[in-house]
Amino acid sequence: LHSRSTPLKGVGEVRLGTLIVFNDVTRMRRLESMRRDFAANASHEMRTPLTCIKGAVETILLEKEKISDSHERFYTIIEKNVDRMSHLIEDLLELSRIEQQQGSLSLTPSQVDGVLETSLLLLAGSAEAREVAIEVTGDKGVLATFDSMLLERAVVNLLDNAIKYSPARSTVTVSVAKVKERVEIRVSDQGCGIPAEHIPRLFERFYRVDGARSRKLGGTGLGLAIVKHVMQLLGGEVRVESTPEKGSTFTLVVPT
Ligand code: ADP
Repeated sequence: LHSRSTPLKGVGEVRLGTLIVFNDVTRMRRLESMRRDFAANASHEMRTPLTCIKGAVETILLEKEKISDSHERFYTIIEKNVDRMSHLIEDLLELSRIEQQQGSLSLTPSQVDGVLETSLLLLAGSAEAREVAIEVTGDKGVLATFDSMLLERAVVNLLDNAIKYSPARSTVTVSVAKVKERVEIRVSDQGCGIPAEHIPRLFERFYRVDGARSRKLGGTGLGLAIVKHVMQLLGGEVRVESTPEKGSTFTLVVPT
C-alpha cells in the first residue's frame, strides 16, 4: 500500500485537516512480477531450439562443397541471425537474473581497478578492430563497495557502447574519482552523441536513438537497461551527459 498525505488549509492558512490518499499497488506488483516471469521463461524456452538451428546450420556449412554458392550465402545469413537472437536472449535472461537478484548479492569493499582491468581486457579486441584507443586516467587504488560481476557488467556495457558509437581513430576515456562518499567511474567518448530529447528514455528496454544503426552494430537495445538495474541493485546510479556530434559521458556512481 502506498500512501501520500497533504495538509488541507482554509482561509488565512488555518489548518482544516489532512488529506490522506492510499493506493493499493498489489495488482501493479503482481503484473510486474508476471511480466518478469514471462520474459525469463520465454527467453529460456527459446534457447534450446536456437541451439539446434545453430548446430544444424554449422554442420551444413562444414561441408560447403556439397551446397551451391547461393545456398551457402543463405545459410550464412541464417547463422548470423541465429547468433544475433542468441545474444538478445542472453541479454534478456541476464536482465531477469538481475531483477530477481535482490538480496543475494556479494557486496564487498574492493578496489575498482580490478574491475576496470577485466573489462578492458574483454573489450580490447573490439576497440582494436574499430581503431578506437582506450585511455585510463584518474585515481588509483580507490575502494568502493560492490559485487564485482555486476559492476563489471555495467562497465563492459558502457565501454562497448562507447566503442560502438565512436568514429575510427578516436579515444574513449575511462576515469575514476572519489567524489564525497562515493566513487565515480566515467566513460567518455568522442562519438556521435545523443540528442537531448532521447536522454529521458535511454535506459528503457529496447529504446534506441537510431534503431537501424544499433542493429547494424550488433546492439540488442538492452545494454543500458542492464546498466540501470545493476546500479540500482548496487545502491548507486548511472548518469549521462551528451552533446550531439561531440560525444557522451556516462558516469557510474558507486557507494563506498
Ligand atoms: P544498443 O544495444 O542499441 O547499443 P543500449 O541499451 O546499450 O542498446 O543503448 C541504447 C541506445 O542509446 C543505443 O541504441 C544508442 O542509440 C544510444 N547510445 C548508447 N550509448 C551511446 C554512446 N556512447 N554514444 C551514442 N549513443 C549511445
